[in-house]
Amino acid sequence: MPPRYTPDPYATIEVADPLEGLRVRISLWLLPLGALAALAAWGLSAIAGKLSLPDQYLLLPMAAGFILLEIYLWRNPQGIRRVWQTALFMIAAYEVFSLFYETGYKLHQRDGITPAALWFPMVYLMAFNLLNRRQALRFSLIYLASGLLAGGVGLLMSPSLNVSSINTALQFTLSNIAYLALLYMFAYLRRHYAQMHQMAHTDALTNLTNRRAMQQRLEGELDRARRYNRPFALLLADIDHFKQVNDTYGHSVGDQVLREVSSRLAQHLRESDSLARWGGEEFLILAPETDLHQAHLLAQRLLEAIRENPISGVPVTLSLGVACYRQGDTIAALLSRADEAMYRAKASGRNRVMLEEEMEDIIIPAHPTKPEL
Ligand code: GH3
Ligand code: MG
Ligand code: MG
Repeated sequence: MPPRYTPDPYATIEVADPLEGLRVRISLWLLPLGALAALAAWGLSAIAGKLSLPDQYLLLPMAAGFILLEIYLWRNPQGIRRVWQTALFMIAAYEVFSLFYETGYKLHQRDGITPAALWFPMVYLMAFNLLNRRQALRFSLIYLASGLLAGGVGLLMSPSLNVSSINTALQFTLSNIAYLALLYMFAYLRRHYAQMHQMAHTDALTNLTNRRAMQQRLEGELDRARRYNRPFALLLADIDHFKQVNDTYGHSVGDQVLREVSSRLAQHLRESDSLARWGGEEFLILAPETDLHQAHLLAQRLLEAIRENPISGVPVTLSLGVACYRQGDTIAALLSRADEAMYRAKASGRNRVMLEEEMEDIIIPAHPTKPEL
């Protein structure tokens, strides 16, 4: 039994998610900013003579930590997750500790909440960027609960518990719940968007790339071919007498044939090739770095792969048309040459490969057999 078809890797949510590169670029800006904030907080509090215990011991190591993370990320952009995890835990620990200390010992000396608390909600943003929605929510709730507990204990220990400090604590609690709720909503929308994006680019029956997504990939490949003057080939495959399959065996067997043809074609392609369901029983293959001769060999392999074993007891054959990129080509011109070659394959008896017209001198003799249904 052939191995099960695994969905096109290009159609997964991970690849559809454009955040990875952006995360690295933004982090390279954020880390020095974090270092600067920690240094400024340390320096200015020291000048004002108000350097608290956690700030005295934690701010300078934090600034150094951010700089080290910056250097590490600069050299290893793929280590972005580790950088975020480390920064996340550093900031979370500092925030909870600061909140406890400042509420307990310093709040009565200030008009409002400690400046460290301004950074408290940033941990939620980081968690929602790094973790999946549920993990981020769990982490953020535990973090908020720890902060509230630390702040609450500090508040009870404070020598001057009054209405103003209770108001500050209440505003802090409610505003943080509001931040969290909004972030959860955005994370939900992002996930929903990724699912929609995947659905809009995937064929529901075969799980292959659909026509819309393939169009985009073709344009991308055309740009690449033009820029670097590289070859690529298009193979258009159409199932022979498919209407008869439906009429004779029923629509659900027809669907099963489409799924199995997709799976077999996918198994004979390279990772760098793209396979799409182009129409009802038509498949389009984009083979980068492939000239007409190689594309012809590939088409022959695909032809064999389909006809060698019947699918659900139905003998199935393909007709394939092959065209290759030439200088000055457009996608429409290339497709129409592949289409024209495929129709010639149909007209000359089906179950065969035909190459685009101008290159006919290198057409390899077609297979004469006619499919039996
Ligand atoms: P030819 O060899 O000339 O290509 O003949 P054909 O019968 O394959 O081509 P035709 O265009 O006449 O028929 C295509 C058939 O494909 C008709 C349509 O019902 C069937 N079809 C298209 N999409 C699906 C689908 O999703 N599932 C099933 N079961 N059949 C489909
Ligand atoms: Mg057909
Ligand atoms: Mg057709």
